[in-house]
Amino acid sequence: MFKSLSNINQEQLDIWVKQALTKAKYGHLPNYIPLLAEANPNNFAILLQSTDNYIISLGNMKIKVPFMSIIKPFLLFYLLSKFGNEFVFKKVGRKPSKKPFNSLEQLEVDGGWPRNPMINSGAITLSSLLPGNTAIERSNNFCYWLNNYGNCQLFLDKNVLASVRSLPNQNNQAIAKKLVESGYIKDAEITLDTYNQICCLSGRIFDIATLGILLVQSPHPEWQKHCCTVKALMTTCGLYETSNRYTIDIGVPLKSSVSGIILGLVPNKGVIVCYSPPLDQQGNSVAGLFLLEVIYRNLDQGVFS
Ligand code: GLN
Repeated sequence: MFKSLSNINQEQLDIWVKQALTKAKYGHLPNYIPLLAEANPNNFAILLQSTDNYIISLGNMKIKVPFMSIIKPFLLFYLLSKFGNEFVFKKVGRKPSKKPFNSLEQLEVDGGWPRNPMINSGAITLSSLLPGNTAIERSNNFCYWLNNYGNCQLFLDKNVLASVRSLPNQNNQAIAKKLVESGYIKDAEITLDTYNQICCLSGRIFDIATLGILLVQSPHPEWQKHCCTVKALMTTCGLYETSNRYTIDIGVPLKSSVSGIILGLVPNKGVIVCYSPPLDQQGNSVAGLFLLEVIYRNLDQGVFS
């Protein structure tokens, strides 16, 4: 278990969560996916889980949340395990970006080269590599693989997908068009549809934790190196333009999503998953970041601690 997980008792966590939820009132809900815009800002869940299954949780553990960008590290991991390093990194870079996760400007400055897999341009490109002929086939294959690998129960949330489709994301469309021009993807429509579907894969907080644990401790020795690659990229790019700041302040692999999830890995020990919908300017959960900072400070378990 985490060396000091037992330092964090339920009472202490309760106090921090109250503080976090007060801060969350200053966050905003994303306006470009109607169902996320209508999410209850008071929805909340947090789970600390060690690799040997010691668990502390608080909040609504039954809630099912669309992964959105939390899928990105797992998309990268799946493709690395299937096709290997060389093939995948011919298609996407490993360079952090100082621009927002959905920046078209960054892609244009880079001449249509998607600079990392944790931002939209990179994940859209990687979506085009998923095996299958149609978007639904690709998304189903990937979902099936994740469920098998992680022994979890992810599913495509059709309501969220309908909501995403009801307000076509012109920014992502422009990113896909640019990626076609630069030759990184072939078919903008099927690729974007695949990307949207995998962002709508949903699950419980436990499912996210289970998948996170598999990055902390690979069950297959031959995939260990891929876990390391994914963790390094989560550390340098997982919180987009604020990654650098949190690498210094927290110092662990982190990934956030516009649905309000933050996944934090505890090196060699476990994971922390937090869900709270209100976001900061960069699209990271306000309460999630606050809690991760305070918990990691207490655990003293950063890569650089
Ligand atoms: N589907 C979302 C988008 O493309 C995912 C982004 C996110 O979670 N930050 O905007």
